[in-house]
Amino acid sequence: MLSDSSSIDFYEILALARTASAVDVKAAYHRALITHHPDKNTSKPSTVHIATIKKAYEYDVQLQQKIANISSRPAQVISLEDFEEDPVDDTAWTYPCRCGAVYRITESDMEIGSHIIGCSGCSELVWVGFELATED
Ligand SMILES: [Zn+2]
Repeated sequence: MLSDSSSIDFYEILALARTASAVDVKAAYHRALITHHPDKNTSKPSTVHIATIKKAYEYDVQLQQKIANISSRPAQVISLEDFEEDPVDDTAWTYPCRCGAVYRITESDMEIGSHIIGCSGCSELVWVGFELATED
């Protein structure tokens, strides 16, 4: 529903997960600008054009706004307490989606304050409630 075949695959360029949060995307964008900047990448010529990254980022911002509009009323708000610890990864928690797959949140998602988690099996998103650890 959110795919646009005419667009550049921003997620591929930046090696991002489809469920990456706006914060992830922005961080990856800035990282990519540095990585691919001709002045800062003298060792080997970049195959990715800065303009391509900028265009892709603008597209993604629009996409994020589209998602924000769709989910202006979050479909489901789930407390982290309702998640179960991932049996194979103790830095991750899962919650069953009605499609049979799971929503998965990791410690790194929490560290960057990412609350919107996508289902691994369908396009559903949930908002996960958790308290961020207080910084020193
Ligand atoms: Zn699902």
